[in-house]
Amino acid sequence: AMRSKTEILESAKQENVRFIRLQFIDLFGTLKNVEIPVEQLDSALDGRIMFDGSSIQGFVRIEESDMYLKPDYNTWLILPWSPQQARIARLICNVHLPDDRPFAGDPRTILQRAVAEAQSMGLNACRVAVELEFFLLKLDQQGKPTTTPNDEGGYFDIAPTDEGENCRRDIVMTLEEMGFRVASSHHETAPGQHEIDLDFTDAVSAADNIITLKMVARTISRQRGLHATFMPKPLQSADGSGMHCYFSLFHEAEHAFADAADTLHLSEMVRSYIAGLLFHAPGITAITNPLVNSYKRLIPGYEAPSYIFWSTNHRMPFIRVSQASDTGTHIELRSPDASCNPYLAFGISLYAGLDGIRKRMSLPSPVHQSIAAMSEEERFRQGIRRLPTNLEQAVESLEEDEIIRTALGEHAYAHFIQAKLFEWEQYQKTVHPWELNQYVEQY
Ligand code: GLN
Ligand code: MG
Ligand code: MG
Ligand code: MG
Repeated sequence: AMRSKTEILESAKQENVRFIRLQFIDLFGTLKNVEIPVEQLDSALDGRIMFDGSSIQGFVRIEESDMYLKPDYNTWLILPWSPQQARIARLICNVHLPDDRPFAGDPRTILQRAVAEAQSMGLNACRVAVELEFFLLKLDQQGKPTTTPNDEGGYFDIAPTDEGENCRRDIVMTLEEMGFRVASSHHETAPGQHEIDLDFTDAVSAADNIITLKMVARTISRQRGLHATFMPKPLQSADGSGMHCYFSLFHEAEHAFADAADTLHLSEMVRSYIAGLLFHAPGITAITNPLVNSYKRLIPGYEAPSYIFWSTNHRMPFIRVSQASDTGTHIELRSPDASCNPYLAFGISLYAGLDGIRKRMSLPSPVHQSIAAMSEEERFRQGIRRLPTNLEQAVESLEEDEIIRTALGEHAYAHFIQAKLFEWEQYQKTVHPWELNQYVEQY
């Protein structure tokens, strides 16, 4: 609900709010916050709370170290686990410079710009829904997360004897208490793996909700002696965790993604939009799959995409198109994982699709047969490319993609690339257990 300043001040009084967390998101999707006492709420709502941005990763630029937090009134909510007698609320903020310009490294700003761009092309409501997968892991004696999953359950299992189901339900109930619309939740394929699906909402709220869901999942699971991880591939021989994203765009109140005349009910516009996503797939991957570990999920055999193609019924496409009866056509982007910065991921996906529309890109044929069963030549003949297979390749593809680079803006682009190449280098020069097992004895 759209709230006014007066409503928020009133709510703070009514609900006994004592502290407010002003939250913002760094370039890597990490939630940051400054806590202020309620006495400062009035001035915070006017965007007058300042912080030193120079120590935030991806924000660094000494001459711009003073930054202001401008709260989005829609994000006001009270944290359900805060004590009754001294409640804590939060507000998600945009980051501004002292001269009031939006800060170029603020991911929320980047997404808002993408949404505005879509609007300028007549696509006036970009709706996004997400499926978040994660593992619940046991803690050790010191309270540190282990890599032992908390149960041995499988897909859609009901697990009467373990904590996993209760913990997941607690997470869902807490989210609902916070006003979220949780579409569903279930046990996923791997041991200890769960999924929570959020309903369609506007792109910025969808990203806010992901950030909030992760915070809630971590908080609630700790209360139950577990750790919730959104790491893409924690268990070597089990499925990884993805964050499938559904997009649906409306063109001037009319559904852009549906056209009853087309056999697949896809309009010209959605065809080009998907074509744009396919075209820019390599370039967006560093953003949607930003960790060294992300690429251990994007391999054949685990229901995660590894090749760039689209389909309607395939289990492993990069994009899956589905028809919902009442809300028209949805396109599901299946490559992202929840370690990504959702603001950047949605923002650049939008730009990729819009580029397809702008250039009237034509959509290649869908692929319905098994990719694994195809020979290399067959894939080549059908123009099916591989997604980047490691972080370095993904960064190189991003460097080559002018549209995505522009979508990020120079500041975010440069800091992102720099951090990711550093991460790759650290990984690259590490001697891993696999190498020792493989080589020490034999050579
Ligand atoms: N875990 C799979 C992935 O990595 C998805 C499984 C599913 O939801 N069908 O994307
Ligand atoms: Mg699902
Ligand atoms: Mg799933
Ligand atoms: Mg899915």
